[in-house]
Amino acid sequence: MVRVRYVDADILIIGGGMAGSGAAWEARYWCRNCRVVIAEKANINRSGAVAMGLSAINTYMGLKCKENTVEDYVKYVRGDLMGIVREDLVYDYARHVDSTVHLFDEWGLPIWPNPQTGCYVREGKWQIMIHGESYKAIVAEAARKAVGEENVFNRVMVTHLLKSPSNPNRVVGAIGFNVNDGTVYVFRAKATIVSAGGGSHVYRPRSQGEGLGRAWYPPWSSASSYGLMIEAGAVMTMMEARFVVPRFKDGYGPVGAYQLLLKTKITNAYGQDFWKPHYEEIKKLYSGKGNYPDLPITPTTLRVYAQRLEWMAGRGPSLMRTEETVKKGTESEAIAYEDFLDMTISQVVIWAGQNHEPAERPYEVITTEPYVMGSHATECGAWASGPDDLAPKKIEGLPDDRGYQYYWGYNRMTTLDGLFCAGDGCGANPHKFSSGSFTEGRLAAKSAVLFIMDHSDEKIEVDKAQVDSIITKLMEPLERYERGKYTVVTGPSYMHPIDPTKMYWKQGLFRLQKIMDEYAGGWSTMYVTNEWMLNRALELLQFLKEDFINYAAAQDWHELMRVWELWHRILTAEAVVRHMLFRKETRWPGYYVRADYPALDDENWHVFVNSRYDAKTGKWELWKVPVIHIIPFP
Ligand SMILES: Cc1cc2nc3c(=O)[nH]c(=O)nc-3n(C[C@H](O)[C@H](O)[C@H](O)COP(=O)(O)OP(=O)(O)OC[C@H]3O[C@@H](n4cnc5c(N)ncnc54)[C@H](O)[C@@H]3O)c2cc1C
Repeated sequence: MVRVRYVDADILIIGGGMAGSGAAWEARYWCRNCRVVIAEKANINRSGAVAMGLSAINTYMGLKCKENTVEDYVKYVRGDLMGIVREDLVYDYARHVDSTVHLFDEWGLPIWPNPQTGCYVREGKWQIMIHGESYKAIVAEAARKAVGEENVFNRVMVTHLLKSPSNPNRVVGAIGFNVNDGTVYVFRAKATIVSAGGGSHVYRPRSQGEGLGRAWYPPWSSASSYGLMIEAGAVMTMMEARFVVPRFKDGYGPVGAYQLLLKTKITNAYGQDFWKPHYEEIKKLYSGKGNYPDLPITPTTLRVYAQRLEWMAGRGPSLMRTEETVKKGTESEAIAYEDFLDMTISQVVIWAGQNHEPAERPYEVITTEPYVMGSHATECGAWASGPDDLAPKKIEGLPDDRGYQYYWGYNRMTTLDGLFCAGDGCGANPHKFSSGSFTEGRLAAKSAVLFIMDHSDEKIEVDKAQVDSIITKLMEPLERYERGKYTVVTGPSYMHPIDPTKMYWKQGLFRLQKIMDEYAGGWSTMYVTNEWMLNRALELLQFLKEDFINYAAAQDWHELMRVWELWHRILTAEAVVRHMLFRKETRWPGYYVRADYPALDDENWHVFVNSRYDAKTGKWELWKVPVIHIIPFP
């Protein structure tokens, strides 16, 4: 017997991470009599990518101290992504991000002050230093207080979006379940904001049996933002631009404070520069219209690529020369450790376990498995409307369809009516990081308030048959387990049993990761792929989808959550592969190389790739959309 609870809201926020907290705070600011509800899979006090804390806020303009301009920031972000970003969206969050950081300051987040200037201590041009172990708790408190504790539904994982029975392009809420007690929640909402974070574990992580689940982006970032929106038919963008990041080996410790604040060099194993030997080749293949290798800040993807070329030339691994900049008993040593203790404690644990002293020896830096994200140096996510004042002119000659244009009325609304995105879920506007994601949540919420005011006489309809059918599907893995509990099974004790009538989440996840790693540019092929491999990935993903539909099984509520996380990851993986197949060039060689099209091709591919999935037919549509530069380019 399934317990079902209906919850009516003006605004539903899916995921109470950085973007979701920003949305909650802003929505109640503009609409004091609105009911704003947060559905959060974990507990918002310590959820999402900032759960463990952070040591820097990576996006802060410093406008009041005249440290930077918004225009320069847009140029920097555009360069880092090799020319392709929605400049209207980047400009929009950048012009508001400082006000977000000032709120954090007011709420008690310890940001390092610079007593000489009265500004903040900079880590790099765009980053400022914080004591951030309680960052998420502070931000969550503001969100909780804004919406009221009774409107925060912790431990509720959203699995499906709900559509209006009379308008298939209108989202009217979502369905999820409490991962502790199994209660099903049917949220009916006038506007819905998807802010459920990015996707880790879509690709096989470098750490396997010995460190299963260890990854740089948190293992609980299960690609729900993408899975939910793809299945509902929202237009997605730039899903091919998934991300590979350099991190300290095994602990995934961040490299920012070492490189930017302490000015530590990365070299090859012999102490030599990794960039110079490859500069000419990189310049030949990846200059494009933007002359990217010669930009003042070398794009992340090119730096990552040059390091990899060094390893492949047999001069690896990359080494962070900590022994040159970290001095025992000095502030540099405190900074070096605190940087990890604020956000990636595992790195310190690994160093302690290996008797490693950063002041004495360098440490290895690796490139990680790929992540599907929209808030870092990467831009996967939904295609959204920009703000009206920055909207470029309508693109003549292209359909008026929202999937081709930049503006259709409500900032950050996806191509589905009433569905907004923020943070990792919103595509083509990277480098938001924690502060920019919170800011984008605010922008989405303000515009969602406007949307519900403009539609105040609309009655939210939910179709009982649709709800029942989703609930049946949602519970099916538990039913399947109960039905076939006593079938004869075999298999290793550390895995679920091998049973021809069932697929448990871990079995499905390992299959997914193997496909993505081996065929879609994972680390085991050194991030190289080609058309044949991507087509093979699609074929195998299709089998996996079929097996999921027919065999997915769960023994309890927790496993049911894992099962639906897997489904979101599978849909996301398919989008990634289809986008990689469609884009016939290599634009971000550090993230992946299409060996059959190894160079950047601005002539044909200085464009966004957009896609739409039709869940009824299982068909995908992909197309190009021109990039419009609102800041002169190059
Ligand atoms: C190790 C690490 C270091 C980083 N370093 C920095 C840094 O130094 N500076 C900086 O500014 N940024 C940094 N970032 C980036 C920053 O954390 C992200 O950009 C930001 O958190 C993205 O915000 P978001 O709201 O999109 O996602 P998140 O903050 O991850 O929030 C997503 C939320 O959705 C919830 N959720 C997921 N699926 C569901 C579902 N189906 N139903 C309900 N809820 C769901 C999650 O539990 C989570 O609470 C770092 C990230 C990591 C992982």
